[in-house]
Amino acid sequence: MKRRVLEILACPLDRYHPLDLYEFLADNETIRQGVLVCPKCSRYFPIMDEIPIMLPDEMRKEKEEMEFLQKWKQKIPEAVLKSAKPFHI
Ligand SMILES: [Zn+2]
Repeated sequence: MKRRVLEILACPLDRYHPLDLYEFLADNETIRQGVLVCPKCSRYFPIMDEIPIMLPDEMRKEKEEMEFLQKWKQKIPEAVLKSAKPFHI
């Protein structure tokens, strides 16, 4: 995901903007791995291989996302890890 996309991204559920970004792997222009968090509804959206996964809850893959959260848990704020929707640790 190009960093400038952040300027136009909103939460798909409630249209909140701007989303909080936590970067795991990134350079000046591109975020390769990270999470976006909506402070309004407490949902997180993974950025996997440069793609922000902004699907409705029922289309998200719990097993894959739990592995993602475990892998990057050192870089995700504890409040997000423990209470984010739709999945948390
Ligand atoms: Zn939201």
